[in-house]
Amino acid sequence: MAFLEMRNIVKSFSGVQVLKDVHFDLGRGEVVALLGQNGAGKSTLIKILSGYYSKDSGNIILDGQEVHFRSPAESLASGIRVIYQELEVFPDLTVAENIFAGSWPVSTQGRIPIVNRKKMNEETRKLMNLLGEDINPDDLVKNLGISEKQIVEIARALAGKANIIVMDEPTAALSQRETKRLFAVIRRLKEQGVGIIYITHRLEEVFEISDRVIVLRDGKNAGTFKTTDTSWQELVQAMIGRSLEELYPSRESSISLEKILVRVEGLGFNNFLKNISFELHAGEIIGFFGLIGSGINELALTLFGALPSEGRVWVEGRLTKVSSPILTKKLGIGFIPADRKREGIVPEMSVKDNITLASLDRNAKRGFIQRQKETNCACEWSDRLQIKFSGLEQSIKSLSGGNQQKVVLARWLATQSKILVASEPTQGVDVGARIDIYRIFDNLAKEGMGIIILSSDLPEVMALSDTIFVMEGGKIVGKFSKGEADQQRLLYLAMGGTEKAISHK
Ligand code: ADP
Ligand code: MG
Repeated sequence: MAFLEMRNIVKSFSGVQVLKDVHFDLGRGEVVALLGQNGAGKSTLIKILSGYYSKDSGNIILDGQEVHFRSPAESLASGIRVIYQELEVFPDLTVAENIFAGSWPVSTQGRIPIVNRKKMNEETRKLMNLLGEDINPDDLVKNLGISEKQIVEIARALAGKANIIVMDEPTAALSQRETKRLFAVIRRLKEQGVGIIYITHRLEEVFEISDRVIVLRDGKNAGTFKTTDTSWQELVQAMIGRSLEELYPSRESSISLEKILVRVEGLGFNNFLKNISFELHAGEIIGFFGLIGSGINELALTLFGALPSEGRVWVEGRLTKVSSPILTKKLGIGFIPADRKREGIVPEMSVKDNITLASLDRNAKRGFIQRQKETNCACEWSDRLQIKFSGLEQSIKSLSGGNQQKVVLARWLATQSKILVASEPTQGVDVGARIDIYRIFDNLAKEGMGIIILSSDLPEVMALSDTIFVMEGGKIVGKFSKGEADQQRLLYLAMGGTEKAISHK
């Protein structure tokens, strides 16, 4: 019998089922890759396992015993450890202190207990040995690289007697060499009998490190595969399958090819973005599709002027320096950030102030803000976008995610931007508001606006875009016009697939 079994797991958020009778199992010393597109339910399943969310129904059986986790601490105590992307290390402590954080070995010679540093360092060396590593126990963690910090976390899991370790996109920030190193550590963990749940979108890694693959799609099981018996095709096929028409109405293209709004040539940023070139026409919606680490995030920030970059950008024929958000506003570029809560809305302010934030100059006369004009402007846009709220003075925090997103949109529309860059525009937005936002984009394009969407949501990109660029590893790896794109092909490329890999498997 499997060491861990999750059976018929059901979970809803405000009435919407996001996990529907999901099954998941893991053996000792086994690596199971958990695969699924954005929103498939991977994180929710893991959060139930780690005691962060409670399940609505279903059973979790660990080592033959049913368990009920009421808190993360209870899950942890049962030997389940999640290593998150944002590593939870203490930078100012040593490697050994991190590994034994919360349970430093203490000796009580005399009457005052003191930390037994010698023992702690010895134990750390043993653990590092088990993992095939030789990171110095006395090193300060802040002086380590990301992959070494990760290894410290893994050692900490071992020290805490973890027998299941969950890794969520662990290689997103690692180089190829560091990835090899992590895989070597994972193989050692297997030898120790530790079961590993490995979340990734890189198919190459799935084939290299996993024993089995469990695919989720729309909160349901979409297949379990023995890694050696499956193929790229089969896995990608299992992941896709939501039909586009079901989700989005079809839209007519409205490109004016003679009018180029933005031309970008050889845009680059360190290793994260390499040689990006494209043209955006009036009335066009361009979609950049990419997964974590693909560079779409960096591209969005670069276009908005929030990251220094190399390369050249022309806005309406004029060579421009896109170097600061204020400048990009002057150039008529509106920006909808992916991290709405941190960068999009100003939570302390009202709906009205959030809408008029970027167009204060437009509503001012000789330096005085004209309140009436401001209110009219806020009213007009909240009307046009059908933002649901009780009054313009209402706090923005009380709005739903979808309505907050519309407020951010309204802000830029109020500045009469001709160009809009939207990063993950419907992340965390409910289905109804999603369709609204889709319609708004469509209408804006019809009015001649050029829109760039950067998204890891494949159906969204496919339904909206006139032109689709697939990004992977900071580069454009594919360009498709609306008619020629198919889901399977796009997902292949975004997951690191090449012609060779496809024909090989
Ligand atoms: P994945 O990790 O596979 O991308 P998630 O588990 O994060 O998927 O999300 C599954 C679905 O549940 C998505 O539609 C997401 O919007 C929704 N969801 C996740 N967490 C919450 C939450 N705390 N409140 C409401 N909806 C949520
Ligand atoms: Mg997730």
